[in-house]
Amino acid sequence: MNVDATLELINPSVRSLKAYHLNPQDVEVKLNQNENPFDWPPEIKHEVAAFCESRPWNRYPDFIPAALKQALADYAGVQPDAIMVGNGSNEMLLVLLLALTGPDRPLITCQPTFTVYRLIAAGLGRDQEPVYLTPDFRFDTDALREALGRKPRAVVMLCSPNNPTGSVLSEEQLRAILDFHQGFCIVDQAYVEFGGFNAMPLLAEYPNLVVTRTFSKAFAAAGLRLGYMAGRAEVMAEINKVKLPYNINFFSDHVANVLLSHRDIIGQRVSHIVRERERVYAFLSSLGRVRAYESNANFILIRVEDKDALFAALGRSQILVRDVSAYPMLQNCLRISIGTAEENDRLMKGIARHYGASA
Ligand code: PMP
Repeated sequence: MNVDATLELINPSVRSLKAYHLNPQDVEVKLNQNENPFDWPPEIKHEVAAFCESRPWNRYPDFIPAALKQALADYAGVQPDAIMVGNGSNEMLLVLLLALTGPDRPLITCQPTFTVYRLIAAGLGRDQEPVYLTPDFRFDTDALREALGRKPRAVVMLCSPNNPTGSVLSEEQLRAILDFHQGFCIVDQAYVEFGGFNAMPLLAEYPNLVVTRTFSKAFAAAGLRLGYMAGRAEVMAEINKVKLPYNINFFSDHVANVLLSHRDIIGQRVSHIVRERERVYAFLSSLGRVRAYESNANFILIRVEDKDALFAALGRSQILVRDVSAYPMLQNCLRISIGTAEENDRLMKGIARHYGASA
């Protein structure tokens, strides 16, 4: 059998996908992945390294990462049996869409948003319906309720703060959707530490709500691949059936516990990033040539007339941002992650130079 014939055996829903892809690029100022610009101090890394050396590698990790679930439950204000941890929040999204979507339960997303939702659902061969944000990227609850009215068993995915727009859903808006909707509602709060309201307290009222979170942003641990979600214990017990056993390796499990015991460091850094975001936003808004959208996350979406020229000019200055212009509604848009003060200074100088302004 030749390779082409073999490829024909792969599910058409998978073959028709365009792979999620990022060009690896070595630059001095890396503002393209919404990472936290601050690494963890060496003392903490040494402590973790010592643990890893002492721990036998031939043994499986704990079947249930009980200490981590307890620490996350304390952090999120829920019970430990409401928590599930995973290999990045991406794994939590995969497990959720595997368990919750189905032939009569399509996925409704609020576009433009994080691409992975669409990719997972498409790979699973699920029907999908986009509901668009308003022209200034607010959540359109009327349009959502209209779509959910037609598809009462749909799974609705709400990303707040939303990647790549930075916009947020208000508590009133989420309640309006939850009061109305008969199906599951997933709220992806990967960026919630940087702004917007916390949806966790609503879990007590709405059994059809699940909230996903990550260690990759505020917790500055994208390299670990750690995420978690919270929902009603009964719901989590069902979803747990499709989660792979031992999805959290012992290293990530341990580091997550250590990081959670240093919430002071996380809080200080988050405050710093939020202050920097406001400084960059004020600068961008003052330029005239750039339309900057208000953000509640650790990035800012901008629209410019000469997107390719600006992207290239920043690249020549060793600054990498993300071109998001292929997303629906985002023609001529770039997404800029917030870096350290020095990195943001370089970014602003680069943009000012390009437009002949001063930073
Ligand atoms: N949700 C959103 C909205 C994201 O932007 C990202 C990563 N950029 C993720 C989830 C996935 O994060 P991770 O798998 O690193 O937890």
